[in-house]
Parts: sequence; C-alpha cells; structure tokens
Amino acid sequence: MRSTSRILAIFLCFGVAAQAADQIIVLKAERMFDGKSKTLVQNGVVIVQGNAIVDVGSNLPSGAQVIDLGDATLAPGFMDAHTHLTLDYSGDYNVRRLHELDLNVSEQAIRATIFARATVEAGFTTVRDLGSRFVGSREFVDVALRNSINKGVIVGPRMLVATKGIGATGGHFDPTSGFRDFLFGREPDYSDGIADGPEEIRKAVRFEVKNGADVIKGAVSGGVLSLADEVDTPQLTPAEMAALVDESHRLRKKVAVHCHGDQAAREAIEAGVDSIEHGSFMKPETLTRMKNKGTFLTPTLMATEWIMSKLDNYPPALQAKAKAAGAARSDMFRNAVKLGVKISFGTDAAVFPHGQNAKEFKLMVDLGMTPIDALKSATANDAELLGIAQKVGTLEKGKLADIVAMPGDPASDITATERVFFVMKEGKIVRNGPPIASTDAKPTEPADVVVPVD
Ligand SMILES: [Zn+2]
Repeated sequence: MRSTSRILAIFLCFGVAAQAADQIIVLKAERMFDGKSKTLVQNGVVIVQGNAIVDVGSNLPSGAQVIDLGDATLAPGFMDAHTHLTLDYSGDYNVRRLHELDLNVSEQAIRATIFARATVEAGFTTVRDLGSRFVGSREFVDVALRNSINKGVIVGPRMLVATKGIGATGGHFDPTSGFRDFLFGREPDYSDGIADGPEEIRKAVRFEVKNGADVIKGAVSGGVLSLADEVDTPQLTPAEMAALVDESHRLRKKVAVHCHGDQAAREAIEAGVDSIEHGSFMKPETLTRMKNKGTFLTPTLMATEWIMSKLDNYPPALQAKAKAAGAARSDMFRNAVKLGVKISFGTDAAVFPHGQNAKEFKLMVDLGMTPIDALKSATANDAELLGIAQKVGTLEKGKLADIVAMPGDPASDITATERVFFVMKEGKIVRNGPPIASTDAKPTEPADVVVPVD
C-alpha cells in the first residue's frame, strides 16, 4: 500500500501533464552548490521550466510545483570525463577476456543500457565515453548508446563518445595484443583505431569522426590492463601526436590521451592535447608545463584504487604494472593540486562497476583537494573540458536543467556525493528516491518508486 501511494503521489506531482513544457518546477534544498561559488549557498532554490533553468534564487513563482528536498544540497548534474559505458572490466581479468570472445556484441550492447542507467541514476548526467571496442567487431556500440539516449529510447547520461581509441600496433589499444599472432586472421588497422605514422593517424581520426565520434582518444603510452606493453613507454612519436591533434582540432574535436609515462606526457602536452588521462608518472616539471599550457589532467583515481583492492583478479604482469602506477599516482595528484593544474573529474568506470563513479570525490579530497574544488571538477571543469560549458556545468539561468541532490552537506562530508537521491536531466526527473538500475543485470524486485522519465 505504501509503495502504491508513493507511486501515485509521484505521478500526481511529476506525471506527464506536470512535465509539460510550460510547467514550472521549483527545486528547494537547505544548501546549493552552484558550480561557481567558493562556498555552498544556503537555502538553494532552482526554478526549472521545460528543459532549462529559468532562475536561481529565492523568488518563488506562483502556481509552480515545489519539490522541497529538505536537508540536502542541490548541485549541477555531475559529469565523468572518462567512462567506458559499453564495457565491464571489473571482474576477473581472464574470465572477462574469454567473455569478450564468447558474448555476442548485441548482448554486450544490451548490458551497456543497464550501465548507462546506473550512471545517470548515480547523478552523472553527462559522460565523456573514452573508447569502446569489441575484438573482431566493427560495431560502434557507444555511438548507438549515445543516439538511443538522445532519442529517449533508453535512459542514460548525455554522452560524448570517442569510438575506438587510436593507438600504435602492439600498443595499449591493440585488441590483438597478448593473443597468438593472426588468431583473428589479420592485423588490426585504422578502422580498428590502430595506426602507425602521421598519415594513418589522420585517416583513423577521419574514419572515427565519419562514424560518429564527438571526441578523439589516443594512447600515447603503455597501460596497466594491456598484456604486451610496459606501462610508461611512449607509444606514439611526436610527429604522430602532432598529426593526431592537428587532424582532430581541424575537425573541431578535442583530444584526450591515455598516458601514464612522463616522457609521453611531455610530448603530448607539447603536441597540444586537451587532456592527459591517468598521468601516473608525471613529474612536477611536466605538471608545470601542463598548467602553463592549460592542459587538463583527468586523474581516474578510482581505477587504480579498484585494481589495487582486487589484485588477485589480474595476471602477475598486470599486478606489477598496477603497483608501479598506483605507487606513483598519489604524489603526482598531490603535486597537480598544489601547482594548480586544471583537474577534470574522470574515473575510468568499467574498470570498476558502473554507478560507483562518485567514489572518486573522496579519493580526490583524501589527496589534498578541497571538497568544493572536487565538486567543481565534476561540474564546471568537466563542462569546460568537454566544450559544453555554455549549456551545462553550473546552476545558472539559461543552462539546461541537469540537477542533482544529495543528503546533508558535501563540503563537510564529501561522501554525500555517493548518496545522490534526486536526479533531473534536461528538466525531466530521472530519479527521486531509491535507484531502479542494477549493474549486476539480474532480474530485480519491482521498483519501489516508479518515476516517469519521458
Ligand atoms: Zn579508460
């Protein structure tokens, strides 16, 4: 009975009629983080009409639906600048590799819809999805996921997608690395994102943009979860990096590069990449160069944290790489904060289960970032990095109504971000109460609260 009446109440409040374009919804909470201020604002009020914020302040329009969220903090919808919503690397490494060969790509795409839902329900209304590939497949599952979300076919965050990351033969992105040679019948090429030499790199960029990429991802150094490379060796030449950046920027696409090693980072920063992903071994001089150039660091602390807590899930060679990267990255992050490098919020979700993205906040704060700066990284900073700051990232008149609420005060307890209970995306309520998604992809009990999303 209780849940029936709650469902009814929610339909009465937020039903189809209540979400008509002219309906005004007022969101109230004891506090608000607006994405710009150095402190939280007391008595937060955000006024929403249609898909946009029409005012932020205390003047309540008459006739509006008021949603009072009580002892909570309103914030702009969080963003994660480094996800892989079509993938799941969180379990045993070898079991996952076998599944990649075993599972039909369509089945993996269906699972991705659940990961997308878990992500938006955790408060992440925008993600930059940095790479989606299925060995032996030419499917662009990330493009399909983004388009299905945009069309309202499924529920998920706004996605900027990279399609297949671009990297060298035998490098971090080579999907055949670590398998017997020619097991898949051919060497991967530009259409798999594997390219050698500036001209092939340009071709790979053009091919990905043609197929729907919003952003270009490159791998300029080795990685932790690849079997046949060293974690910090450079994998593209300066000429290849220059081609990657030039071709992407000509097509008005930003460039994010996977990079652990210091030399590769220095060369990538000089080439003009927009963000360095991971950056584990970057030295203070490299970070200073980044600050001067305005290059973003996307630290993905959660990825290292997860791998270090589940080391037995990985083969010995990867354990050694994870330990080396994990030992270096905390000092690197502390130095980046001290030096004032622009820090974007990005987690590498897929390495850990989707929907746990907000745990990154506490890791950032534990390593010296203020809670307000951590919140800024996931809102205003990410909006700037993604090139969408005119639409999202702050609670301001004219911005899209991407709004979340978390209990209590995140400035005194940053883990409040892990307990987001209200999510609005473009003026539509995705969640107001317990989540619906289950990342385990098992049949779930009927949801306690049914919230109309369209
Ligand atoms: Zn990644």
